[in-house]
Amino acid sequence: MTGYSQVRLAETDPLIAGALAGEKARQESQIELIASENIVSRAVLHVLGHEMTNKTLEGYPGARFHGGGRFADIAEQAALDRAKELFGCAYANVQPHSGSQANLAVFFALLKPGDKVLSLDLAAGGHLSHGLGVNLSGRWFSAHHYGVERETGLIDYDKVEKQAAELSPKLLIAGGSAYPREIDFERMGAIARKVGAYFLADMAHIAGLVAGGVHPSPLPHADIVTCTTTKTLRGPRGGVNLSNNLDWRRKLQAAVFPGVQGSIHTQVIAAKAVCFGEALTPAFKAYAAQVKANAAALAATLTDRGIRIVSGGTDTHVVLLDLSPQGLTGMAVQNILEEAGITSNKNPIPFDAPKPADWVGLRLGSSAATTRGMKEAEFSELGRIIAELTLAVASGDTRHAVASARERCAALCARFPIYEN
Ligand SMILES: *Cc1c(COP(=O)(O)O)cnc(C)c1O
Repeated sequence: MTGYSQVRLAETDPLIAGALAGEKARQESQIELIASENIVSRAVLHVLGHEMTNKTLEGYPGARFHGGGRFADIAEQAALDRAKELFGCAYANVQPHSGSQANLAVFFALLKPGDKVLSLDLAAGGHLSHGLGVNLSGRWFSAHHYGVERETGLIDYDKVEKQAAELSPKLLIAGGSAYPREIDFERMGAIARKVGAYFLADMAHIAGLVAGGVHPSPLPHADIVTCTTTKTLRGPRGGVNLSNNLDWRRKLQAAVFPGVQGSIHTQVIAAKAVCFGEALTPAFKAYAAQVKANAAALAATLTDRGIRIVSGGTDTHVVLLDLSPQGLTGMAVQNILEEAGITSNKNPIPFDAPKPADWVGLRLGSSAATTRGMKEAEFSELGRIIAELTLAVASGDTRHAVASARERCAALCARFPIYEN
């Protein structure tokens, strides 16, 4: 690979070598169910550690501020061409350092400070970069939110339309981090046009499902689409801006650089190209379908065992548990799952308490464990383990359940190693 081994690093920097070794062993020995995580290919890993990281460049391929960009240009151009092919769109910018940066660039391109934005409420599954008060997007812009219905956990588009008509936002945003159902992008686009708003679809979580053809694409309906390459797309940490409308090109190019960023993360852009190349293969389509099937199997098993799933199920990789019937917090269940070898995260559910420690939601996702090769049978087993642990915490006696769960999780990890070849 890079020729610089873990052994050498252990001599030069034992602290960091230890952290890396520990993290690798943790990933091997735990089942990753955090919905925003995945496991990148060896090819992506290789590129992330490549000497291309040494290259500093500002600007875009063919129009750089520094010399020596010949090979980096090949990588960025490939990333652009592949992103456009993958999502069937006319414009792409692969430079945003993260999903939040991709969104910030859109705010910078379209809005002035104080302009009104309408986006999904954080407790209903929205994202902090869509106008949360503690984020720049909420501090500098006037953010308003639509929610979901208490009974169904679903967006009521008639209500969004009414709210948008009353508010007249400059920007309408669809997409989130914990909304487990398909979003009607066509309807959201129609609402935006009706009220004279720009429409941003943030498909960070579902980009891999869209790329794999198992989730409708927002691109025909949105002015601009943002996403990460990190989550279901199974690539490096980073963001992307996309559009079907070339009229946005000039504004978006200038918004990313020099608007909100300086030089590019050259090796990450090369890794994005590799990620898009992988996502264009038939094997990735099969992966995306399996991610969805696995999440459905997990949700069904949990439901059978009396665990409430927000919205009653999932259309994506996300399964959001409501632990209030058991009188438990998300944190309590997150902790016991971790003891047993399953990683997850506490999450607010719609209408949840304001403080994270009081949240009754737990978010699960199927993308990373599906990459390890697990299928419906294993996700049903995970559902049984999670239900048993949850009911054990509720009963106050967890010893037996944790011991049993640990063994079963370890057996799954052994059967589905990471990076086996
Ligand atoms: C994860 C996510 C982002 C942010 O991505 P980062 O790379 O963590 O900045 C933006 N929007 C949505 C909906 C997300 O889920």
